[in-house]
Amino acid sequence: MLVGIDLGTTNSAVALWKDGVPQLVPNALGRELTPSAVSLAKGGQSWVGEAAVDRMATHPADTVTSFKRMMGTASTVTLAGTTLTPEDLSAMVLRSLADDVEAATGERPTEAVITVPAYFNERQRRATRRAGEIAGLEVKRLINEPTAAALAFGLADKGDREPFLVFDLGGGTFDVSIVEMFDGIVEVRASAGDNRLGGDDFDAVLARMVEPQLLGHAALEGVSVTRRDALMKLAAERTRRALSTSEKAEFVLTIDGKSAGTMVTTEAFEEAAAGLVRKLRDPVIRALRDCHIDVKSLSDIVLVGGATRMPVVRKALTRMFGRFPNSTVHPDHAVALGAAIQAGLLSGGEGLEEIRITDVAPFTLGVNTATRDAHGVFHDDIFAPIIERNTPVPVSRMERFFTLGDNQRQVTFAIYQGEARDVKKNVKLGELTVPVPPRPAGEVQVDVRFTYDTSGLLDVDVAVPATGLTRNMVIVDEDDRRSQKDIAESRKRLEKLKVHPREEADNVAMLARAERAYEGFTGHVRDVIGHALTQFQGALETQDPRLIADARDALGQLLDEIDAQSPL
Ligand code: AMP
Repeated sequence: MLVGIDLGTTNSAVALWKDGVPQLVPNALGRELTPSAVSLAKGGQSWVGEAAVDRMATHPADTVTSFKRMMGTASTVTLAGTTLTPEDLSAMVLRSLADDVEAATGERPTEAVITVPAYFNERQRRATRRAGEIAGLEVKRLINEPTAAALAFGLADKGDREPFLVFDLGGGTFDVSIVEMFDGIVEVRASAGDNRLGGDDFDAVLARMVEPQLLGHAALEGVSVTRRDALMKLAAERTRRALSTSEKAEFVLTIDGKSAGTMVTTEAFEEAAAGLVRKLRDPVIRALRDCHIDVKSLSDIVLVGGATRMPVVRKALTRMFGRFPNSTVHPDHAVALGAAIQAGLLSGGEGLEEIRITDVAPFTLGVNTATRDAHGVFHDDIFAPIIERNTPVPVSRMERFFTLGDNQRQVTFAIYQGEARDVKKNVKLGELTVPVPPRPAGEVQVDVRFTYDTSGLLDVDVAVPATGLTRNMVIVDEDDRRSQKDIAESRKRLEKLKVHPREEADNVAMLARAERAYEGFTGHVRDVIGHALTQFQGALETQDPRLIADARDALGQLLDEIDAQSPL
């Protein structure tokens, strides 16, 4: 039997193609969504889904969620003494979904269509396939989540070149994709997002909002901070869901039979969440900009992910797009239903073809830095991103750092992959030390350049301009047994990228042209050129090829217009 599976960061779901329609299969608790959570005990006992989430409050160290973010990396998690890879954890969720299908139909599924984010790279896709194999499922096809959502919303019946916007706000991630059908092939034209924005952040806002009313309450006395926070999080999620259908709801914490509560109104919550809602705009703009599609030509805006059920999010979208989004398919179910439609097509001998967007860096890469706060206290272990997640690869970026101590003799950079500000929460990839000349603090400059390509090879260069000293390190995936020759070839390819955009020929030429024009005019025209030049220089400093290309085009256009008005 072939099933369709949405293997999500927060929740997963499984669906079947039956009697010509996709149908979700409920789990043992009768629910269509199974939390992507795993908990283990010493004796080898394991819990998946809702039961694992429940265990989170009492055994946080033995329980894990959001492991999808680790897929394709060499990191592991140790729960109750057992070390597991992200594939193992995902496989446990997949196995539990397969159990549910077997319980519901009497037949054990052997094959699956599994969905993955559009931005997943080859390694992450391979890891997902491996998770399927570990769970005893032959992965017939991996399809992009936005493609699956589009299928569920009836994209296959739409005409060619009618782009959709898929707005997917889940528990911990936010993805915007522009999807289109072209010559019978589904194309994800662009995808953007924020992997640190989701329902969880709205929970945190709500918890912070009620905290002053609840702290001090007798029920909370003597309760450890970890336990209190875990309970607050659960209560916040419950309350937030209630606020999706009602104007007010009670935020209640129950601890050992005692409870503490306070009333929350939709209005107060929406006000507190305004900052998060504003963050939803940027990825939408970036995705549209990347594929040069304007809002008016979108044939539909479809909602995916549980957190799009919040009225505050829907209102913001209606304002943003000037029309109501399409929520005819249950946002939590769309991806799994789409996977089942693909399964249906495959079993009928067809199957939709899709192409993927260009590769992007799946995680942020950076180094640790230190800083002094306003009280002079030293904080180290702060993450300084160099290549941000979702940056199209191959890419090369340079950041400048300065010494922090007087007469410091060396600088050590630890290299991390991840999104947390505290580097200890990220994955350490390596460490590089360079000697520096002893000088007063802040006087020695050290440049760190990261160069990264689709194959996952990270080339790190550290340079001390004052002495001309350089150090280099190449980081390859632990599970990637590439030959030295392959590595050398990849590095040769990357070498070409190691130029600051300021020094690239196109940009140098444009800068020179704009500067000449600036010198040739006075008054208003000169101001306009000056302004555009500043914008372009700002874009160069971001080292983001897309922003640079946009700014260069804009400046070029302006200069062309000015030239066209020339009296000669
Ligand atoms: P997903 O990752 O797509 O499964 O989405 C999970 C997120 O959706 C969690 O943050 C849930 O709190 C949120 N969610 C689910 N149902 C609702 C609802 N009715 N109202 C508000 N948020 C919801």
